[in-house]
Amino acid sequence: MFPVVVVHGGAAKVPKERSEKFMLGVCSSARTGYAVLRGGGSSMDAVVEAVNHMENDPTFNAGCGSMLNIKGEVEMDAIVMDGKTLASGAVSAVRNIANPIQLARLVMDKTSHTFLTAEGANQFARSMGVPEVPPESLITEHSRMRWINKLAAGTNPVECQMDKMGTVGAVAVDSEGNVACATSTGGMLIKMEGRVGDTPCIGSGGYADNQVGAVSATGYGEAIMKVTLARLILFHMEQGQSVEAASDLGLAYMESRVGGLGGVVTVDPQGHWAARFSTSNMSWAAAQKDTLHYGLHPGEDLTQSIEDPL
Ligand code: ASP
Repeated sequence: MFPVVVVHGGAAKVPKERSEKFMLGVCSSARTGYAVLRGGGSSMDAVVEAVNHMENDPTFNAGCGSMLNIKGEVEMDAIVMDGKTLASGAVSAVRNIANPIQLARLVMDKTSHTFLTAEGANQFARSMGVPEVPPESLITEHSRMRWINKLAAGTNPVECQMDKMGTVGAVAVDSEGNVACATSTGGMLIKMEGRVGDTPCIGSGGYADNQVGAVSATGYGEAIMKVTLARLILFHMEQGQSVEAASDLGLAYMESRVGGLGGVVTVDPQGHWAARFSTSNMSWAAAQKDTLHYGLHPGEDLTQSIEDPL
């Protein structure tokens, strides 16, 4: 069994001029997660580090760079899940926190609950000594311009799902065969205040179970929740499907049943992995056996050695 980490930077349309940034971001995140695994770290440590890395990268819709809600504010959701124990931790609608994925992990590690929301989650962050950051520090020029343009366009939420999305996530298997997932997002552009998407919902934005595998999902949250996409894919794996076939079956069902598009990264405990999507683009990267695989367009699988400079 070869340890592996697979990350995604969101299933969404990526304009040509931004594709380089997305590719560099996911590759650097996968390298970060892989360094943890190579150093003997757990799959949970690897996915949290990988997602933390993308939350700090303003390219992605998570942490700094999050999409803005209807009021022009940042509200973020995140989840982690440990496949060994089925323990999970999630937060939703948090503000003023640079790394919601760390807070989700603290919910898992330090409380008897699995999910804290809004001001309660922020209060918990304070009690754990997680520093609060000014709200403006999470807003980029790019996210503000997209908010202004989208408000002016007054678009239909379903028709335009692809240019309002983005999320980051990771799955990993460590040398002991433990799987884990982590997913973090700013949610959908111009969402209602208080809207919570699929990301922090167990079985939708992520799921991990050592007996089957792990999934981190991205895409149109309202559709992902209807089909509990992450758990649906693991169900197909339980029925004997490969990581790729199960991912495709789950995404195809979501599209045909509720018209939703999205993408996933999936692993099984043997270290097989997949990055699949029904959108036109999904930035992703996987690191295993000292090789980095990455892509952005359907069917693309570029490779380089982990030792090569980015
Ligand atoms: N799933 C996220 C949400 O609906 C958005 C995304 O993944 O692109 O909040």
